[in-house]
Amino acid sequence: MARETLISKNPDPEGDDPNLRPSAMSQMIGQREVIERLRIAIDAARARNETLGHILFDGPPGLGKTTFAHCIPNEMDVHIDFLSGPSLKAPKDLVPNLTNLQARQVLFIDEIHRIPKAVEEYLYTAMEDFRIDLILGEGLNARTHNFKLKPFTLIGATTRAGMLSGPLRDRFQIREHLDFYSLDELTQLVERNANKLKVAIAPDAAAFVAERSRSTPRIANNRLRWVRDYAQSRADGKISIAVAEAALTMAGIDNLGLDRLDRRYLETLIRVCGGGPTGIETIAATMNTSSDTLEDEIEPFLLRSELILRTPRGRVASAKAFEHLRIAPRSTKDGQPRLFG
Ligand code: ADP
Repeated sequence: MARETLISKNPDPEGDDPNLRPSAMSQMIGQREVIERLRIAIDAARARNETLGHILFDGPPGLGKTTFAHCIPNEMDVHIDFLSGPSLKAPKDLVPNLTNLQARQVLFIDEIHRIPKAVEEYLYTAMEDFRIDLILGEGLNARTHNFKLKPFTLIGATTRAGMLSGPLRDRFQIREHLDFYSLDELTQLVERNANKLKVAIAPDAAAFVAERSRSTPRIANNRLRWVRDYAQSRADGKISIAVAEAALTMAGIDNLGLDRLDRRYLETLIRVCGGGPTGIETIAATMNTSSDTLEDEIEPFLLRSELILRTPRGRVASAKAFEHLRIAPRSTKDGQPRLFG
């Protein structure tokens, strides 16, 4: 989630419906094991009257990394500042945030894998010893001053844990991977949020929307908002399964929950590249998009749904992907379908 501003005390990615984001872990759906482990760490830190250790969340977009970052300071009763990795171009961008920290507060860095090496190295001593080197004055008068910081908790979020250097990763005491949500969990989320949005939804319609939400809460919320709009402008304002189906079909969402961009990816891989193996850069160039977008936003769900495979030679479309697009797999010389039977 790239944010333009360097710091925002109150980021509002939920737009007009800020109340959809849980503010306490007890209101969060799913991720039970992660919540349990965090609760133990939070309870222990509170009991010892200490600062909570640094936490790293990784996982595909929309699964709750920022939501956890919102909930944890509430549970600890501390303040939080938000930073976005791409806007930290040099250590000086970080200095005011570090020197102004309140004791035990949380500093959240979204997309932490995108901070440059110099900023990352500057964070090492801040994270480990709560101190930084400040250069005061210029030229011949420049002096290095060792500045002691208030103890704080850094929460990092990344869609690419693999891109983080070992030294940075090792400085997080708690590392949690967020996984996709089950159908039951997303159905519960859709029902609960329909209630918050004050729109009536039939139980089968909630399950229908959840099933087409790529196992991701943010997408479930977006689909729900669209279905609500559709119900209010094209139906009687209530979400029945017929209304949900008509709304999602109109938005180009198919029965696996794939949208137009997901299908374009599969079509590029299958129709243009013969099903692969094809390098991600080739797919991205053909689709006129960036490989980062494909790797972060499209591929995790396609991989999880077994529609594509990642091989050392590139991406490969599975038999299920051919079937989904209703294209017959190409055969090898011996008459067998390529790679998949
Ligand atoms: P990420 O930071 O991983 O990209 P977010 O935390 O911004 O994802 O989640 C996107 C939206 O999905 C949130 O605003 C919230 O409304 C919803 N959401 C995410 N995780 C949960 C959860 N476990 N329970 C309820 N809602 C959630």
